[in-house]
Amino acid sequence: MAVMTHAPARLEANYRNLSTDDQDRFDQLMERADHAGPHDYQPLMDALAVLTGISGEIRKCACSCTCPVIFDADNQDAHVIEYGDGYNLGRHQCPWCADQHRETA
Ligand SMILES: [Zn+2]
Ligand SMILES: [Zn+2]
Repeated sequence: MAVMTHAPARLEANYRNLSTDDQDRFDQLMERADHAGPHDYQPLMDALAVLTGISGEIRKCACSCTCPVIFDADNQDAHVIEYGDGYNLGRHQCPWCADQHRETA
């Protein structure tokens, strides 16, 4: 019986691998998502998903090591530094940074 192997779902993207145009788009979409209302938020996340190739609650790592990792903040290994206060996004660390140099607000 053949063993089915599945490539793992892509969970992370690298900001530095985006073209400069896409980096600009990413920054603008994140900025808009941070201020978006409930009706605007999901379409912005969907646009970010197309841009980055990952899906979910898309965040760029906010670690002080200037990590370029873009990841899904719903990942259980992601670490919340700070929940958004009046904004949507807050600050999150990618799973690797949460393990290596966890920050607290
Ligand atoms: Zn990181
Ligand atoms: Zn880090």
